[in-house]
Amino acid sequence: MTTILIVEDNRRSMLLIRDLLEIHGFRTLEAFDGEEGIARAKAERPDLILMDIQLPGMDGLTAARLLRQDPVTAGIPVVALTAHAMKGDRERALKAGCNGYIAKPIDTRRFLAQVQVFLPGAAKPGRA
Ligand code: MN
Repeated sequence: MTTILIVEDNRRSMLLIRDLLEIHGFRTLEAFDGEEGIARAKAERPDLILMDIQLPGMDGLTAARLLRQDPVTAGIPVVALTAHAMKGDRERALKAGCNGYIAKPIDTRRFLAQVQVFLPGAAKPGRA
């Protein structure tokens, strides 16, 4: 089953993203800060990582950079979750090695399609 790691400190956003993904048959993993996100990525090697930019402690861009530098996680796509108004965040996300970004607040009708763009070709959601 395709597994997606969500790194997000806002509990409401976490629940929304997790529910949207699980409804569509994805397995999800949760981390509430960058350190935890990196640890879970290394341990569980998800198919995709959704990375909030603004996190307590280590920010999401630093976490993305560290994931890119580690051979264990370098091949996992990282998609930044950026605040809609913060256009500079998007460029910084790409420079940090993120594969792309999804603007927050999440558009629930578009979210699944936005995520699927970044999944490896063979990875499709399972049917629960
Ligand atoms: Mn945040």
